[in-house]
Amino acid sequence: MPRVLVWNEFIHERRDEAVARLYPQGIHGTLAAALRAHGLDRVETATLDDPEHGLTEERLAATDVLVWWGHKGHAAVSDAAAERVKKRVTEGGMGFVPLHSAHFSKPFLALMGTGCFLKYRVAGETERLWVVDPGHPVAAGIGDHIELAQEEMYGEPFDVPPPDELVFLSWFRGGEVFRSGCGWRRGMGRVFYFRPGHETFPTYHHPQIQRVIANAVRWAAPPPGLSAPVRGRREPLEPLS
Ligand code: ZN
Repeated sequence: MPRVLVWNEFIHERRDEAVARLYPQGIHGTLAAALRAHGLDRVETATLDDPEHGLTEERLAATDVLVWWGHKGHAAVSDAAAERVKKRVTEGGMGFVPLHSAHFSKPFLALMGTGCFLKYRVAGETERLWVVDPGHPVAAGIGDHIELAQEEMYGEPFDVPPPDELVFLSWFRGGEVFRSGCGWRRGMGRVFYFRPGHETFPTYHHPQIQRVIANAVRWAAPPPGLSAPVRGRREPLEPLS
């Protein structure tokens, strides 16, 4: 059972009454409860204001999958913490599941190596997430598509490296499309970006959205027994002369 850490900057929920009404326990609280309901019983949470943002070396070493929601507070995350997250993914095999506006989070930018820009518009329009890879484990149990009555629009071009695995493609009422569920391998670890989740909409209460995030956590989790690679200068296994 993967050890999951749900990280949230936890800013909007404390400043904006409408967001607080949607997520009285914080977005992290809603996500953690949803993951537990999907059978992931080793779920903890951390927020920006925790010492070292709750992302110490020890905490990360004890985390198999890190789920991340951030927006206003990206710059407040220390470079050191972001670097620890990146290293834990690439060298330790930790899974990383950035959600929605985490496309601009420091760890995601570092793992992608590109600008991660996109188009956006907050107009409360319909979003349809089409499953484009129905055999993919992250799409398990989702069926044909997910419809969200109201969401923020994110539009292409999404400035990321071509995903290794593309699971969802979004259509928005205003006409734009977006690669909404993207998987990448990075070193020893896996990254799954999932787009929906603007803070003023009830997206994380949606059963299909919760299922996708639980699926993404299981997909991104390192396989049992993952062993560290041997690197650097070494002696030959047999005499060379
Ligand atoms: Zn947003």
